[in-house]
Amino acid sequence: MTIRTRFAPSPTGYLHIGGARTALYSWAYARKFGGSFILRIEDTDLERSTQQSVQAILDGMSWLNLDYDEGPFYQMQHMDRYKAVIQQMLTEGSAYYCYTTPAELEAMRETSRARGEKPRYDGRWRPETGKILPPPPEDIKPVVRFKTPVHGVTAWDDLVKGRIVFENSELDDLIIARTDGTPTYNFCVVVDDLDMGITQVIRGDDHVNNTPRQINILKALGATLPQYAHVPMILGSDGERLSKRHGAVSVMQYADEGYLPEALVNYLARLGWSHGDEEVFGMQQFVEWFDLGHVSKAAAQFNPEKLRWLNQHYIKLADNGRLALLVSKYLADRGITETPALESVIALYKGRIATLLELANEAEVFYNEITPAQELLDSHLTPEVLPALRELAQRFAEITWEAPALAALIKELLTQYKLKMPKLAMPLRVMLVGQLHTPSVDAVLALFPRETVLKRLHRYL
Ligand code: GLU
Repeated sequence: MTIRTRFAPSPTGYLHIGGARTALYSWAYARKFGGSFILRIEDTDLERSTQQSVQAILDGMSWLNLDYDEGPFYQMQHMDRYKAVIQQMLTEGSAYYCYTTPAELEAMRETSRARGEKPRYDGRWRPETGKILPPPPEDIKPVVRFKTPVHGVTAWDDLVKGRIVFENSELDDLIIARTDGTPTYNFCVVVDDLDMGITQVIRGDDHVNNTPRQINILKALGATLPQYAHVPMILGSDGERLSKRHGAVSVMQYADEGYLPEALVNYLARLGWSHGDEEVFGMQQFVEWFDLGHVSKAAAQFNPEKLRWLNQHYIKLADNGRLALLVSKYLADRGITETPALESVIALYKGRIATLLELANEAEVFYNEITPAQELLDSHLTPEVLPALRELAQRFAEITWEAPALAALIKELLTQYKLKMPKLAMPLRVMLVGQLHTPSVDAVLALFPRETVLKRLHRYL
């Protein structure tokens, strides 16, 4: 059997962390077995679907390197097919017209409520052998309902959750077409999963309740059932379902905040799935290891600190040229287009930051004017060290502009003026970059052009 999986997002917002993880698992499953991964945009909710969201999904997938073999398919383009299947089901008797009015439905609900039962449709237009149906009223447009089996159970062996059983008596006769003939959500999913030959439906466990309905329709259509894998949801650190309250939930927001895609993919892979104690691994390794049997049955908890830690790891590994290209975009947004020696700045700073945004903040001081805080100037440019700093600035004008020579000169003056390293290093840092914490001061000095250093120092000396 050739494996065929799909990711079927509704384009009603950005691609969020949960959706991206579902996409990643479906993608990895197909890749592992040499199957096909299909992207299907479920855009039948016309009020909530937008082109912008479609684009956000495509951008997110491409940023995460989740390539698909087929699609993107759009459900709105399959309307004729859905309608044809509904006709076929009406003809075969697995679906029927229902002329119940909204007022009648409300009355049914009231009756159920009064009895303390779940509100449900009473089956009055459901054809049965020997049952005489009233003549169809001419002034009412009917919906189409699926004739759900009344007895028995609908069950499946979920690849994540194990066996799941629903009593058919719990399931209503689902509306599969509205009064205007448009097919409803569960129905479109079924037809597409069938037509696309999906072998494993991997999706969020918020869909578990849809599955028995979808299985029953598939059975009525004579389909071979796919396997189902329902992936538990993602919670925030407070145990509530992950939402904007917990910070960024959009994949592209992580891109904007300076995360590398390989860090987010590694994080998402591990969020609710494990391979022993392995924490750090690339896409290829993940595909090799991935199996649905090791997806956790319990909800996963989002941990932003761990994601930061992974990002830091991947930034350290990343090629400086690639990082320079990414960082220069942040700098360009701040109006900085000339960035000489950016790769060297990155090489010196990349071990000290966790995101590209932080890296850009560090790099910015090399190219933009800075205004050190008066407080820092006052506390570090003391009368005790000013003579040494002045001589240093003078000698900077003459020496070879390289870190070893700069280090040697600083050392020489420390001895001459009987000072300890921080006494010179701190005021230099304040004047040069406005901060007290930097890599070794000779390395920082060497990254600047000599003229910039002299200009920044002479402002205060
Ligand atoms: N469109 C659904 C969603 O975005 C997914 C449906 C499915 O995977 O079956 O939640």
